[in-house]
Amino acid sequence: MGIEDVVKNISWLGHDGFLIKGGGKAIVIDPFKIKACEPADLILISHEHYDHCSAEDVKKVQKDTTVIVTEADSAKKLSGDIKVVKPGDTITAAGIPVEAVPAYNINKDFHPKRNGWLGFVITLDGVRIYHAGDTDLIPEMESLQVDIALLPVSGTYVMTAEEAVEAARKIGPKVVIPMHYGAIVGTAQDALRFEEALRGVCEVVVLG
Ligand code: ZN
Ligand code: ZN
Repeated sequence: MGIEDVVKNISWLGHDGFLIKGGGKAIVIDPFKIKACEPADLILISHEHYDHCSAEDVKKVQKDTTVIVTEADSAKKLSGDIKVVKPGDTITAAGIPVEAVPAYNINKDFHPKRNGWLGFVITLDGVRIYHAGDTDLIPEMESLQVDIALLPVSGTYVMTAEEAVEAARKIGPKVVIPMHYGAIVGTAQDALRFEEALRGVCEVVVLG
């Protein structure tokens, strides 16, 4: 399986929500106001804000055997088989290697670093996928070794499209996918500006 095959198995559920299939597993990240979605073997929740940690949406994709990986604040709002992690932790959950990475603001206060909220790197069929969570461009991004990066582009609470372009250049993935727009903040225009600015730098996939 190459990177392109993995990209084909990534579906956007809106906002920061994704369904990613690979290695015989279904992984759901930050489901929010989702419609139809298949049950997840693994659910990753980046932080406790209501548009990322939605207990109602988690229930829609949770089975008896589903494993949830998240940070301590979100864990309080959810139930089931929950693994609490901190930035820097690495675990295997539902058979999938998961690295918890930092996600925080540097020029605003919505996501303080001390909260220990998360981004994730998962490895599927040998391909490394980074879901940045709610973050600004942070120094830790430089050392990420990832093939596919899901980056927020809305501004306000997270990076603007322009800052996300800088982040993509720093991280250097083969494929980037914009997220965190079209629901609460940010529009398709942000995703478009992001795509145009990265033309010739890396492949940008805008999921509809
Ligand atoms: Zn947030
Ligand atoms: Zn957010």
